[in-house]
Amino acid sequence: MIILMILTLRSKVKKPYYKKLNRLVPEVNFVWNYINSLSSYMVINRRTWLSHFDINYYLAGATKGDGALRLAFTSLSEIAKIYVNRRQQAKNKHILRYRGNKSPGWIPFGPKTVTYKEGYIRYRSLKIKIFDSYGMDKFTIKTGNFSRDPLGDWYFNASVEILEQYGPVGNLGEVGIDMGLSTWITCSNGQKFETIKFFDVDRLNQARSKSKKHLQREYRAISRKRRDYLHKTSTTLAKSYNFLVVGDLCSKWMVKEYGNMAHDASFYNLKEKLKYKTAKFGSILKLSPEAKTTLTCHSCGSEEGPTGKDKLKIREWTCSSCGSIHDRDVNAAKNILALGRQSLASV
Ligand SMILES: [Zn+2]
Repeated sequence: MIILMILTLRSKVKKPYYKKLNRLVPEVNFVWNYINSLSSYMVINRRTWLSHFDINYYLAGATKGDGALRLAFTSLSEIAKIYVNRRQQAKNKHILRYRGNKSPGWIPFGPKTVTYKEGYIRYRSLKIKIFDSYGMDKFTIKTGNFSRDPLGDWYFNASVEILEQYGPVGNLGEVGIDMGLSTWITCSNGQKFETIKFFDVDRLNQARSKSKKHLQREYRAISRKRRDYLHKTSTTLAKSYNFLVVGDLCSKWMVKEYGNMAHDASFYNLKEKLKYKTAKFGSILKLSPEAKTTLTCHSCGSEEGPTGKDKLKIREWTCSSCGSIHDRDVNAAKNILALGRQSLASV
């Protein structure tokens, strides 16, 4: 899920530029006080509560021509908007407090008013240098303000939109994942994802006998189905668990040894998908060496399990040292999880 978030980024203004901003403060106060008088006058004499759109009408032209304000028009409009808001909060008192020299320094601005380039904020003809700790050019500045704190320092507060990737955090805890050919994925808790045979030799031969195009289409269909299955499985895993340990087996060897079967299993591809999906959903992925995970008894540690090519045939085995009966793949997944925990602890 992608969520649009609005953040306020606060950056300090460089000291030599304070003067420029200080000069604008009386204009903000002037506009505020004008709106305050106007609004109160209209309530008393016309029984009208002005909206901020109404007020904009009275402010038109104040930023142009002789004796024009140095403020941008969107600043005036923002002041009006905030004024009306405060008036409503004050239970529609017809007049608010006037702003004076002791009021906090504050210069709001509306959309499409300021731009940022190489350390400088441009506001009308002013260039204000800021300490940019966010990499401001990555963002589109919506609205915001300059504000002066009680110590006289100025800050640039920009409201920006960002797109956040967001997914539910897994609640099934930690898991070890064994990848194999007979069962594709086996989790240490016993959850399994079966290998699907995407290659259908008969269908491929049929397509081949028709035309090259038929064959290409058949291959494309296979790779689409496989990709879809890979996406669904990796998403399920990355979303369900907070900590995933995957056996880092050598897939090149597998492909050489088992051909299309290993292709369908797409071990490498699955690992790559898990890498970015765990990052996206906020879970942790650890790759752990696979050596001896099938061979070792999870309960007692003795190495008496199935080895080599034989291990593909043997699905269940009994440890002669401790008598535990193991599902081959679940036992391997539990060992993988244990290895992942160790490597996490040693970091
Ligand atoms: Zn044992």
